[in-house]
Amino acid sequence: MTDTTSISDNVMAVRDRISRAAMAAGRQSDEIRLVAVGKTQPPEVLVAAVEAGVCDLGENRVSELAAKMDQLARAPAMANAKWHFIGRLQTRKARALVGRGVLVHSVDRRGLVDALQRRALAAECVQQMLIQVNVGDDPAKGGCDVQEVDALVAYACDLPNLQVTGLMTMPPLPPDGTDQAAAARPWFARLREIRDRLVADWPQVSELSMGMSADLSAAVAEGATMVRVGTAVFGPRQSGPWLGSDPSERL
Ligand SMILES: *Cc1c(COP(=O)(O)O)cnc(C)c1O
Repeated sequence: MTDTTSISDNVMAVRDRISRAAMAAGRQSDEIRLVAVGKTQPPEVLVAAVEAGVCDLGENRVSELAAKMDQLARAPAMANAKWHFIGRLQTRKARALVGRGVLVHSVDRRGLVDALQRRALAAECVQQMLIQVNVGDDPAKGGCDVQEVDALVAYACDLPNLQVTGLMTMPPLPPDGTDQAAAARPWFARLREIRDRLVADWPQVSELSMGMSADLSAAVAEGATMVRVGTAVFGPRQSGPWLGSDPSERL
């Protein structure tokens, strides 16, 4: 069981890292949203993060996200919490996400864009999303190729029930023993350059979701507007996804 006092200490420590990196870069720390990534953690520790002032929660599995949203729907602390989906998204799971006000960070192909548009039209809503870019061309990571991003953004921005609000990336993991933040920084700079180019034609494509526990300072230095932080907030991950206290309610 995670100790909730340590979660509020962790949130403060992460905020401190964000504000120091922001200050060093001449940025305001309130330009950067902390998305606390609670994958594998039980709902009560997510509530502890929200009670410690976190407004944004991230998950990487649709079933886990849905189970936690349902479980916490009536928790008073959660009334203003915003949910983010940051994992690989299978087209057939788009339905379970659309219409819940979730920001999807991981849209990386036309088939998925089409599925989200179809579902959003049916749900009579506008689905907000980021386009994930595989800046390091890493076969282990999701994201569209750097060469495809302009066309994918143009395609998605044309659809009536979608709103593309920015870009997301996960840089390649450097070899063991390398400084992860230093290695990631050029990849974060790459995403920012892509955003700076796109924003001239699509001003709404402004957000940069980049940076995790190990490299968030480098991401903030390169312009991140959202950092996705798991272990530095919640401690080590649990052994597997949290799928609900009531198995009959699982997706
Ligand atoms: C798990 C995860 C994170 C957070 O990773 P930490 O290293 O625990 O901070 C960020 N982004 C994505 C896409 C993730 O899956």
